[in-house]
Amino acid sequence: MAQAAQAQDATQKAYDTVIGLEVHVQLMTKTKAFSACATSFGAEENEFICPVSFGLPGSLPVLNKRVVEMAILLGKATGCTINHESVLARKNYFYPDLPKGYQISQYDKPICEHGTLPILLDGEVKNIGITRIHIEEDAGKSMHGGGGSLIDFNRAGTPLLEIVSEPVIRSADEATAYLKVMRQLVRTLGVSDGNMEEGSFRCDANVSVRPTQNDPFGTRTELKNINSFRFISRAIEYEADRQWDALQHGEKIVQETRLYDAEKGRTYSMRSKEEAHDYRYFPDPDLLPLVIDDAMIKDVTADMPELPWQRRERFESAFGLSTYDAEVLTADDTLAAYYEAVVTDGIDAKTVANWVTSELLGALNQRGWDMSQNPIGADRLQGLLKLLAADKITGKIAKEVFAKMFETDDAPDKIVASMGVEQINDEGAVEAIVAQVIAENPGQVEQFKGGKDKLFGFFVGQVMKVSRGQANPQLTQEILRRKLAE
Ligand code: ADP
Ligand code: MG
Repeated sequence: MAQAAQAQDATQKAYDTVIGLEVHVQLMTKTKAFSACATSFGAEENEFICPVSFGLPGSLPVLNKRVVEMAILLGKATGCTINHESVLARKNYFYPDLPKGYQISQYDKPICEHGTLPILLDGEVKNIGITRIHIEEDAGKSMHGGGGSLIDFNRAGTPLLEIVSEPVIRSADEATAYLKVMRQLVRTLGVSDGNMEEGSFRCDANVSVRPTQNDPFGTRTELKNINSFRFISRAIEYEADRQWDALQHGEKIVQETRLYDAEKGRTYSMRSKEEAHDYRYFPDPDLLPLVIDDAMIKDVTADMPELPWQRRERFESAFGLSTYDAEVLTADDTLAAYYEAVVTDGIDAKTVANWVTSELLGALNQRGWDMSQNPIGADRLQGLLKLLAADKITGKIAKEVFAKMFETDDAPDKIVASMGVEQINDEGAVEAIVAQVIAENPGQVEQFKGGKDKLFGFFVGQVMKVSRGQANPQLTQEILRRKLAE
């Protein structure tokens, strides 16, 4: 009892954590945010630069319409207000990879505001408030080492959307759930590839702690540039504990930017946090205010795809799936499409869900593969489940055939034929096997008749063994009951 209570205390924190996330997504446009030069990843250094992205004096920025369309799409998908007028502003700071000496961003008048992102936590939906979404251009990249520093300007001017959440996230798990839904959303919308390793989906986590939910917010620190969900979660956990510890020792939390050392599992100070006024934001005089009319919003959102949470709800209602199964199946667009392709008349949708979530994902997992490496096309799994539904094979055999399908491209009926494992549905044939089992186990028969009901399972097992898993299970049960009662 005391031990159980202690174990629970260990998972429940003695303090309240407050988290706000800033996500930067790199947009999949063909050209940069304010110039006609191409965006690229993995090209030779400084191959994709032009006077504008290089910040040459006299060059003028022109806003890429695709960027605006993508911002509207993401804004609408998250229920934001799309501002009819927003302003592109200069964010001034010096850095070698920022040739203009400022980044074009948005400040007090962003394109989107006041949205929400629904996330699922322990089966409950929680709406995470989105403060704003704004357009921004990326900086170049500095590379240090080899006796000096080099700069690659390919990334300079690449379009980004920054999505800022309200400080309403309460744990590392919630933060991870939010990021996963957000990443899936930008992929579903086709605005970003969401690739974290390549930096097209980046997250800064703002973290503070306070004794209870009713206390005012504490001072926050900002954790920058963490490139995996797992590390973000660990960094938040570590940082919250560090802050609480410091406060317990009478120290003050300084507002600062910190980095996460994945190897040591610790965060460390990078620089003191700059305030907005340090950036000397002002409207970029080279760019007019961004005016968006209702017609454009209507146009852009006309081909809004089904959103991840809408699909999850549809899977629950249309296929009768549990929230959990619907969540697993819709967490990835490819997986969701696969599931829908397998479901067909005559096969129970829940059976398909079980096969996809347990058998297929299990088998892929075992091999360390993802859906893109799945060798079992939807038609083949559907074929297998049709054989099962039509009593052509037993559930046990279906699993064996499924395993074989990983090794060959053959259709399931062909595999079944070559294995010689069709289900035995002929009553006489099953009767013969039952008779054999009864004859071979006189001791057990006597005990069963003497009241040891549990032995029924033994007889079923024997019939399956003799028939090599091929006897029709229902028929087996019926005939066994009848024969054993004789
Ligand atoms: P900055 O440019 O200074 O990073 P932003 O407005 O872009 O400011 O982002 C601030 C982020 O910090 C938001 O996600 C917000 O929710 C979060 N935040 C604000 N106050 C706190 C706090 N006390 N604890 C944790 N997060 C906070
Ligand atoms: Mg910010």
